[in-house]
Amino acid sequence: MGWKSLDDMDLNGKRVLLRVDINVPVENGQVSDATRIERIAPTVADILAKGGKPILLAHFGRPKGKVIPELSLRICLSELEKAFGQSVTLIETLEDAEGSALPDGIILLENIRFHEGEEGNDPKFAARIAALGDVFCNDAFSAAHRAHASTTSLAKLLPSCAGRLMQAELTALEAALSTPKRPVGAVVGGAKVSTKIDLLMNLVGKLDVLVIGGGMANTFLGAMGASLGNSLQEPDLHGTARDILKQAETTGCKVILPSDGRVSRAFAANAEYEMIKLNAETVLEDDQMILDAGDVATDTIVNEFKGLKTLIWNGPLGAFEIQPFDKATMAAAKAAAALTVSGDLITVAGGGDTVAALNLAGAADDFTYISTAGGAFLEWMEGKELPGVSALQD
Ligand code: AMP
Repeated sequence: MGWKSLDDMDLNGKRVLLRVDINVPVENGQVSDATRIERIAPTVADILAKGGKPILLAHFGRPKGKVIPELSLRICLSELEKAFGQSVTLIETLEDAEGSALPDGIILLENIRFHEGEEGNDPKFAARIAALGDVFCNDAFSAAHRAHASTTSLAKLLPSCAGRLMQAELTALEAALSTPKRPVGAVVGGAKVSTKIDLLMNLVGKLDVLVIGGGMANTFLGAMGASLGNSLQEPDLHGTARDILKQAETTGCKVILPSDGRVSRAFAANAEYEMIKLNAETVLEDDQMILDAGDVATDTIVNEFKGLKTLIWNGPLGAFEIQPFDKATMAAAKAAAALTVSGDLITVAGGGDTVAALNLAGAADDFTYISTAGGAFLEWMEGKELPGVSALQD
């Protein structure tokens, strides 16, 4: 906590600089998924309801301080208008915004990353933007791990608060990791240990139970002495894996590795597989690979969920994009969703592939909270300070 929400602000008649993340995917010149736009609509509606005048600040792609017409936010205009139910005016240059009285209604400033001062966090640039508004509202949690002019400096120049999406993210993440209902556990899966070392190290210090799955579990099994054939693995991280297990022992965090796996000779849909026990003594043939947790492991994981009050989820338990190696992820996700619906478990998930996997399982809607932030969610889970959040707390 320590940050204000829209409820704490007097916005009547005020210009509200609203940092949002509408960096939506585009296919064939059209927005192909408007989820990010839809999720900021409640914040815009609340600002308007409080008599405020929203000026949206956002980035789009990576123009790196140059004006690149293909990266204009114009592409988002019609989706924004649809989501807000009213017209939105795009102001193309900062000079236009500064030069004359801004029109009434919702305003969108052109791609903030067209200016070098944004990513450079230049105080003069921040002051020019700040002069356009009376209040700063940050609703871009997914950009909060970057210290840019529009994510940190504006918060120091103007009275500031979190928007509804940022508020929901912070409330859910604080509830999951800072002050969780215990016992608290996590599923950490996915391809590689190397991308999640900091995450694992931080989590074993905070959790009661850590389920390790996916390709990264192979590195842990390998570190224990198993010989895993052609399985995805990072042998140079065996030492790190042993350190994480040692740390977990010190902090009293129970680590669950898959006790069996679906093992195939082809990384392909509908490939034949055998269910094989996994432990330190396992020896696979050279062309065999573990592509998913097995049925015994899945049962163990689901049983662990039943003893938890809070569950954090990042990463799949197997190569979930190809059947039947989606089985463990689908079954565990459905079980977590059912425990959430019955009120027994608080479930918070985030990170790119995780959301796709939970959607495939039809579990996403039942989770307590699904973070739309990728990098920022992971950095929060790693225990790192997010500059965009700290700036709101100062
Ligand atoms: P990440 O981006 O680190 O969360 O990793 C997600 C990716 O890991 C997905 O594309 C999965 O297909 C892949 N993955 C998970 N388990 C395995 C496995 N046992 N072998 C190969 N790839 C896997």
